Amino acid sequence: MTTTNRTSAHSTSATVSRLVRAQHAVEGDGFVVRRPFPTASLSHLDPFLLFDHMGPIEFEPGKGVGTPWHPHRGFETVTYLLEGDAEHRDSMGNHGFMSAGDTQWMTAGSGVLHKEGPSGAAQSAGGRMHGLQLWVNLPAAKKMIPPAYQDLRAEANAVRHEPGATVRVIAGDLFELHGPGSTHTPISYAHLTLEAGATVSTSLPAGHRVLVYPMIGALSVGDTQIDEGILAVVEGDILEVRGVADQSEVIVLTGEPIGEPVARYGPFVMNTEAEIRQAFSDFERGTFGAPLD
Ligand code: MN
Repeated sequence: MTTTNRTSAHSTSATVSRLVRAQHAVEGDGFVVRRPFPTASLSHLDPFLLFDHMGPIEFEPGKGVGTPWHPHRGFETVTYLLEGDAEHRDSMGNHGFMSAGDTQWMTAGSGVLHKEGPSGAAQSAGGRMHGLQLWVNLPAAKKMIPPAYQDLRAEANAVRHEPGATVRVIAGDLFELHGPGSTHTPISYAHLTLEAGATVSTSLPAGHRVLVYPMIGALSVGDTQIDEGILAVVEGDILEVRGVADQSEVIVLTGEPIGEPVARYGPFVMNTEAEIRQAFSDFERGTFGAPLD
């Protein structure tokens, strides 16, 4: 799907319709994240189920934290690193490492176990860690597909440099770039680095939910400034973002809403409570596989 050349007399400039302040939450073995959702007041922003901003943190040798073995069913976990070195294992037998700019796109589907955290080398040396984990829902027809995995390296990202700006697209079509990630529903995912005053713009895919989040710094969309730790929901045809801080690292996400009921409990996201009970039952019976180390 192309999102270019949609400019017309009827195109509207995107404006901010909602600002969501991230709350602090603790994940896994004690990793503190900034989380715009899910919270008590905002369950999800269809098709996105969770948005966890991890770090940036500096950890001492031996003090890095991750998550121990845990299951997922019914959606995808998408992890993008801005800084640091991470390691992951899963019950499909995958074992991988990630560095800055890499994305791990895991489709849990019918069920998988995984663990994730700083790499062994980073754990020994100490270091920095900064990243984003997103949960992307799957439609009912795909919730029980076999688990799968995409290892998207930084060098595979579609990249364009403009004065004061770098645009990287990991999945979908944004900023006239096409990302390498394969998605089950229409999703696009971009990371912008902006100097103060730098402006970049893109057509937005029609009908998508659009989220803009500064991981570092601040930016403006129309007349609205979006500060670090604030997630903006924007609406319109053409998105123009302008760097406000000296250097801003900004995530732009779009996704076509799935429009189905969401039943969720912890690591399982299905359509009905009965399916959640079945997920617990299957997990306890061992159908998700077993930890591999
Ligand atoms: Mn997980």
